[in-house]
Amino acid sequence: NNEHGKQAIRVIGILEDAGLEAWLVGGCVRDALLGRPVHDFDIACNALWSETQAVLEASGIHTVETGIAHGTLTAVSKGTPLEITTYRIDGAYTDGRHPDSVQFTRSIQEDLARRDFTINAMAWHPTRGLLDPFNGQADLHARTLRAVGEPEKRFMEDALRILRGVRFASQLGFAIDQETASGMRAQASNLDLIATERIAHELEGLLCGKHVHGALMAYADVIGRVIPEITPMIGFDQKTKYHIYDVWEHTAYAVQYATPEPLTRWATLFHDIGKPSTFTIDEEGIGHFYGHAHEGIPPAKRAMKRLKMSPSFIERVAMLVRYHDCPTIPEPKYVKRLLRKLDGDPDLLRALCSVKRADSLSHAPAYRSGVAHAQAIEDCLDLILRESQPFTVAALDISGKDLLAMGMPQGPHIGAALNAMLEAVMDETLPNERAALLRFAREWWSKRETEI
Ligand code: ATP
Ligand code: MG
Repeated sequence: NNEHGKQAIRVIGILEDAGLEAWLVGGCVRDALLGRPVHDFDIACNALWSETQAVLEASGIHTVETGIAHGTLTAVSKGTPLEITTYRIDGAYTDGRHPDSVQFTRSIQEDLARRDFTINAMAWHPTRGLLDPFNGQADLHARTLRAVGEPEKRFMEDALRILRGVRFASQLGFAIDQETASGMRAQASNLDLIATERIAHELEGLLCGKHVHGALMAYADVIGRVIPEITPMIGFDQKTKYHIYDVWEHTAYAVQYATPEPLTRWATLFHDIGKPSTFTIDEEGIGHFYGHAHEGIPPAKRAMKRLKMSPSFIERVAMLVRYHDCPTIPEPKYVKRLLRKLDGDPDLLRALCSVKRADSLSHAPAYRSGVAHAQAIEDCLDLILRESQPFTVAALDISGKDLLAMGMPQGPHIGAALNAMLEAVMDETLPNERAALLRFAREWWSKRETEI
């Protein structure tokens, strides 16, 4: 990271030696001031990309034209990619997502003014220091997100900024200034104009944030605009002894407790989405849910499909929703069965344990035994992997070819025989040894053959 910073400063030096003006801008300035790791260094420069490119290439720095229409060039300095963007003013916005035109400018101040939040609208230079025309540093200290300029107008120009704001609140744990928050709410319906891929990207950042509970609670209405499937969870009283929160707040806590990776965070967001539709109250006023995990799959899938998430990711999230409540006995034989249901994927089982733990941690204090349960399942998984205990057909010491050689006909029997052997091996009633497996197969087939 330090090395990337050095390269950024070197490139600024090269540009300025050629008579240009350049600053570090945006996220890297914000994160550096916060003492957070900086993941990309963006440079703003007063020259057009062609001039910038000529200067850099003359100094032996390779450049790639990544977004000429917006004046963006990517320079690669000693392996560090740096985005260099010409100072610009965005033209009028009429579609709620893109400026109709962009205009280049020689003024860094004007470039900073087009940026979304004050904490993102600062520039820094190795000798000229910090340039902060919108008091971003004061907002950083106050841990406040504030729109640059008139909030509602800025969100009307580009509604993605609304979700960016909630995402920053979740990542940084900042509060959103009141006027900015009301501007976001007033323009939230314009999120319908934004490309789903961009929305999904912001949602993922939001869900993976360290302070996601607060963001989900404060901006449930904004999130409900882009994932309407969550709306029934908001304020839904569970009326069981296990819960002290409504379904949404339970979910918001659980998401924050889940490991910070997209798979577990999305699955936790959806884990109880089936609850409102499966709710019944008995004579004593106690709430019950029958099959909520299962009923959660259709709305979760619908939401993720609309967000154009990949089919394989959607399937994995759906499996976690489906099995988040399964009462597996933490013994290898049962854990291997569960593993098979999860496509034989140990990482997916670990993700499931994370969801289970997060769910349990968000229950009433007396009902958090799921934490130990999830741990016991994970310990079992470790044992299974350490001992290379078989849980897939491929791990059997015999293959379909052997069965064919034995005289079994090609067809569904082969797979069925292998599965029967795997079941017996997982139950530890059959050793995973070739001779024993062949004997088992022969017996299995002779029974089948007579049945047919
Ligand atoms: P991070 O990269 O950590 O998510 P960032 O602030 O760097 O945060 P980017 O999307 O990389 O976010 O954008 C870089 C900078 O460009 C921002 O800091 C902000 O100044 C500006 N910016 C990005 N998107 C918008 C937008 N939709 N409207 C206005 N300014 C924006
Ligand atoms: Mg960035």
